[in-house]
Amino acid sequence: MKEVILLKCGEIALRGLNRSAFEQVLMKNARRALKDIGNFEIKSAQSTIYVQPKGSADMDEAMNRLKKVFGVAALCRTAQIAKDFEEIKQTAGDYLGANLRAAGTFKVEAKRSDKRFPMISPEICRELGGYLLSLYPHLKVDVHHPEETVVVEIRDFGAYIHGNQIPGAGGIPAGSAGIGGLLISGGIDSPVAGYMMARRGLEIFGIHFASPPYTSEHAHQKVVSLCQKLSLYTGRISLATVPFTHIQEEIGKRCPEEYFTLIMRRFMMEIASRLAVDNDCGALITGESLGQVASQTLQALACTDAAAALPVFRPVIGMDKEDIIEIARRIDTFETSILPYEDCCTVFTPKHPRTRPQLAMLLEAEKALDREALISEALCSVEFLGIEPSL
Ligand code: ATP
Ligand code: MG
Repeated sequence: MKEVILLKCGEIALRGLNRSAFEQVLMKNARRALKDIGNFEIKSAQSTIYVQPKGSADMDEAMNRLKKVFGVAALCRTAQIAKDFEEIKQTAGDYLGANLRAAGTFKVEAKRSDKRFPMISPEICRELGGYLLSLYPHLKVDVHHPEETVVVEIRDFGAYIHGNQIPGAGGIPAGSAGIGGLLISGGIDSPVAGYMMARRGLEIFGIHFASPPYTSEHAHQKVVSLCQKLSLYTGRISLATVPFTHIQEEIGKRCPEEYFTLIMRRFMMEIASRLAVDNDCGALITGESLGQVASQTLQALACTDAAAALPVFRPVIGMDKEDIIEIARRIDTFETSILPYEDCCTVFTPKHPRTRPQLAMLLEAEKALDREALISEALCSVEFLGIEPSL
């Protein structure tokens, strides 16, 4: 008996996309996720990806990693055997023995995609169900809400036996829809925004603005840690860190305090757009949520958008903080996000920011600055870091 993990691709996600290209990206992402835990053969057939260890491998860890790979609707750890009913019976009884002993109710499900197999599905269910009942007489059959479902899949390469399947990460494979430039602060919202867009197929290019000495090396390290956590879902992230101190000081010196945050955010958008375009991104991503703070009102967002040269995706725009936090906890970024290091946005905050700014007034205020020189200066000193998934 060989153990094989089957990844079931969501049929809905496949629709409209080039299935084979989609599966290639998914397989590449799965291969990457398993890179450091063993040697695996990964192949696809019938909307399913087969992940089979060559030699020994930590299959529990492999399942944990693969649970985070986008594009997988469900996954199951299976025993692959010959398409022989006697062997199917023996294996189902042994391989799923612990689950069946622990369960009170069960049912058998058969999927026969290889129509040459001599028994039809209802026959497999009946015969195997009877055999398992004789082996584990405490069990009761419950076809509607069984505690354990014994699944027999008769496929091209063999018969596969497994118990309950586990929900996958859903979405579509990260990287299959292009690259998005994620403006990532050390906060709670932007890592969640990156996760959500990677789940819709974007590879993530991280862009972080740092203002040393107002922001510390700890604050930067926090962003690196967040990217590391995120990369378990998104795959490798390149992170560009932009020095922002001079720009913030200039705004502070030359512009009205009430516009400080918005002028700063417009600089961020413009610099991020240029970096994103240079790095083949088709969109920017932020963690903005409508009305969360003064710079995220409808009018403020319009002013920020006017400085962006790419579409700006804000996947958490309509979410409450509590909902965002729930995702942050689930993807394990929350505890890092709440570490108390200053972000450049919190260093220079006006006491009374404008909540209904008008673009014309901002443009007027920005005339006091040499925008182009400041942007060029910042872009000349960007530092890049490649962040690989690690635990
Ligand atoms: P977050 O929790 O992600 O920090 P926030 O609620 O603190 O968001 P803001 O600080 O107003 O909100 O920032 C809004 C968005 O602007 C962030 O979600 C992020 O996309 C971007 N942003 C803010 N600060 C930075 C920064 N230092 N570098 C890069 N992007 C930033
Ligand atoms: Mg923030």
